[in-house]
Amino acid sequence: MKKTKKGLYRTKKISYKKLIFVMLVIIVLLLAALIVVWNSDAKNVLIGIGKISTAKVTDDETTYSYYENNGGSLLTPDQDHGLGTGMMAEVIVPYAECTDGAISDNRSSPLCSALTRGTVDRVVSSVGGADNPVYVLESGVKVNDEYLKITENGFLLPDNALAVSTCEESANGVKFTLDTKWAVPVQMKTEPQEYFVGYLERAYNVQEYTAEYLDIHFARTTEFSGKLDFSSSDVIRSWKWILEEDGGTLRLNLKEKGAFYGVSYSLDKNGRFAFVIKQNIRTDTSPVVMLDPGHGGSDPGASSLSEEYESTVTLSIAEKVADNLAARGVKVLMTRREESDVSLDTRIAMIRKYSPTLFVSIHCDSSETPSLFGTHTFYYENFSQPLANSIQQKMADVYAALYQSDPTKAAESNRGIKFYPFAVTRTENCPSVLVECGYLSNETDCDFLMSEAGRLQIADAIADGIAEQLNIA
Ligand SMILES: [Zn+2]
Repeated sequence: MKKTKKGLYRTKKISYKKLIFVMLVIIVLLLAALIVVWNSDAKNVLIGIGKISTAKVTDDETTYSYYENNGGSLLTPDQDHGLGTGMMAEVIVPYAECTDGAISDNRSSPLCSALTRGTVDRVVSSVGGADNPVYVLESGVKVNDEYLKITENGFLLPDNALAVSTCEESANGVKFTLDTKWAVPVQMKTEPQEYFVGYLERAYNVQEYTAEYLDIHFARTTEFSGKLDFSSSDVIRSWKWILEEDGGTLRLNLKEKGAFYGVSYSLDKNGRFAFVIKQNIRTDTSPVVMLDPGHGGSDPGASSLSEEYESTVTLSIAEKVADNLAARGVKVLMTRREESDVSLDTRIAMIRKYSPTLFVSIHCDSSETPSLFGTHTFYYENFSQPLANSIQQKMADVYAALYQSDPTKAAESNRGIKFYPFAVTRTENCPSVLVECGYLSNETDCDFLMSEAGRLQIADAIADGIAEQLNIA
């Protein structure tokens, strides 16, 4: 009995030891496997890098109203603040495009950033007809009626105060949130930057992107408290608050001249301003590229000298760009992968929702003048100019080779990079360009665009331009 007990006890003891040993071995093996996987290509499969997928947005994501869903945490023009009343405007779309209130035309201007949903301001005057009024706001910008809810006798709001709530590294870059009394108008721009008049007399062409800081201007704001810690950011070096007559500016100094890749901002569900300064795309180890084959579905785009319309050609080229990038380990998001309808608003909502590292829209030209030929690339935000430049240089090489028998034509086929306010390029959260891959109305260009070899060369050029910006092989 005693022996048996002892024996049992001993057996039990050994089994615990064995168990612990086996568990340790399993843990060590698992850790080793994890290290091997993490340092191999298998990681790409595990976390989705190198995959091609289709971007999607729901109606909910484009119609959500800040005040309806989260009323109560911020001061609004519906509550009496003892300051009297006035005509008040509230932004009711995700991002409302603005133009300069002091300039009479309504042309898009990259020097005015969009106002985020929920922003409130006082209406100073209105211009335009009764059918389509455009309101000049106290903060100095003009906004179209369709983006605003107007309250004739709204309550005026007091001066604002901001306080740092959080500041930390996020998946996309450094994110900081600011407590605010109410949703004051915010304007952002990078400086210093010279512009010149170029294509179609638009005065926002950039020779070189030279920004040294990002200025975020908060209207009606007289106080800023708390500290921002950008020590984990690879883009922002330091910050300062500058008090001005019409509010205050948060100046974010860049670590490196011209190294700025976009900013996302919104009012979060806690009633705070939330900003994400996009990380340095040259050191991003898991870049996401969004490719946008132009047109599609009921919108075939430009007709061509051949049977295929623009939408088919752009999809075919985009798929080849996607394959090229995926093979280099880049995660690719497509706005469409079939002949389907995707509205411009949906494409823009996709850029804002996914906030990719880069966005490239792919199109082909067509003209009444059959002699027009060659390729050009368009940008809107000044920080998108380097991406346009990289892609255009690679495209120019392809076209120079196509027209090599005629040196004049070979040179002319490079139509250059240009400022132009295409809808999909008017987003502030990532470098975004639109490349015109050639003229479907020109015989030589069209033959090239209809050939498998031509499409492959164009796709490889676009992918190489993207890879150059991402600093990948
Ligand atoms: Zn097009």
